[in-house]
Amino acid sequence: MNVQLLDLKAQYQSLKSELDAALLKTAESQYFIMGPEVTKLEDEISEYLGANHSVGVSSGTDALLLALMALDIKAGDEVIVPTYSFFATAGVVSRLNAIPVFVDSDPVTFNIDPTQIEAKITDKTKAIIPVHLYGQSADMDAIMEIAKKHNLKVVEDGAQAISAQYKDGKCVGTIGDIGCYSFFPSKNLGCFGDGGMTVTMDADLAELLKVKRVHGGKPKYYHSMIGGNFRLDAIQAGVLSVKLPHLDSWSQARRDNATLYTKLFVEAGLAEEEGKISLDENNKVLLPKAVYKETGHKNYHIYNQYVIRVEKRDELIAHLRSANIGCEIYYPVPFHKQECFKDLPSSKDEYPNADYAAEHSIALPIYPELTKEQIEYVVNTIKAFME
Ligand SMILES: *Cc1c(COP(=O)(O)O)cnc(C)c1O
Repeated sequence: MNVQLLDLKAQYQSLKSELDAALLKTAESQYFIMGPEVTKLEDEISEYLGANHSVGVSSGTDALLLALMALDIKAGDEVIVPTYSFFATAGVVSRLNAIPVFVDSDPVTFNIDPTQIEAKITDKTKAIIPVHLYGQSADMDAIMEIAKKHNLKVVEDGAQAISAQYKDGKCVGTIGDIGCYSFFPSKNLGCFGDGGMTVTMDADLAELLKVKRVHGGKPKYYHSMIGGNFRLDAIQAGVLSVKLPHLDSWSQARRDNATLYTKLFVEAGLAEEEGKISLDENNKVLLPKAVYKETGHKNYHIYNQYVIRVEKRDELIAHLRSANIGCEIYYPVPFHKQECFKDLPSSKDEYPNADYAAEHSIALPIYPELTKEQIEYVVNTIKAFME
C-alpha cells in the first residue's frame, strides 16, 4: 500500500470541472491581479469567518508581514512569538528589524504557553503573534488578557487554521487585531500557488492593510507611508471561491480521521488516551488532543497536521518511508536553535517543551480523502516497528 502525506490530486479530481472553469475564466478575462474575483473572495471569507473586513494578499508570510507593517512595528520593537512554529512567524519580525522574543509551547497543544508570556514582556514589547499550530486555536482568552493589560497588539498566525474555532465559537483570526491565513496548497484551504488573507474587525486597520498591500500610495503614487506588493492574483481567488464551500466537510473528514487514529492506536495498545505528555510502557505514542472539543462548536480543531510524538523518531520515519508512508517533521528546529537567530537574547533561554516536540514529533497523513484501510495500514506499520 502507498499512503502519501498529502494527495492533492484526489481533491482536484472531485472538483475538476469547476476548478478548470475558474482557471479558464481568468484566461478569458485577462484580468490577472486583484479585481472582482479577489473582492468576491474577500466578501466570502468575511462572511464565512464572521470577520468585518478581509484583505487578500500574496501569501501567508506576506499576510503576517503586512499585518505587522499596518500595526507600525518598527526597528527595535519586540514581538513575542512561540519558538515552535513555521519559520515565517519569526522571520517577518526580523525582516522589519524588530526583535522576535521566543516563548515555549504548551506540552499538549504545541501552541504558545500563555503562562510564560508575561515574563518576556519589556517596555519594548509591542505585539504578540500566537500561532494556531496544526489547526487548533491557541488559548486566546489568556493571550488577549495579557495583551490588554500590557497594551500589546495581537496578530494571529492562522496559516494552518482557517475556520478553526476557539472555545467561545469565534473563528481564529477574528479575535486579535489582525488575523493572517495562508492558501499555500498544503493548507486546508489551498490555492494553485501562493496566496493569503488578512482579516480584521477594525475599519481603520482594514484601510491600512489595503493601502499598504499596494505600496502604501494613497492616492496612487502619493506616499505618506511605505507598503509593498502584497497583491492576490485573480486566478487564486477564483480557485479559492470554488473550494471554500467544501472547507467544512474537508475539515470534518480530517477530524474523523483523527478520531480513527486515536481508536486504532488505543486498540493497538500503543496509547491510553489523547493528550498524554510523557512516553511510558503504556504510551509509546503520544496522541494529539483537541482541547476545545467539548465546547459544542464544530471546528474545534481542523487538523491541518496530525502530529504524534514517539521515542526513536528518526528510525520510525525511515521505517514508515520504507513502507511507502509519507510523513514529515513539523518542525525539527525551534527558533531559539536557528543559526540566524542565535544572537537574539531570548535564544539563550530554555524551551524544554519545544525541544521535546522538535525531537519527537512526526506528522502522519491526515488529508480528507484517506481511506480507513490506509489509516489502518499506518497504525499497523507503526505497531510493527514498536514490537
Ligand atoms: C504556512 C505557514 C505560514 C506561511 O504561509 P505561506 O503562504 O507559505 O507564506 C506562516 N505561518 C505558519 C504557521 C504556516 O504554517
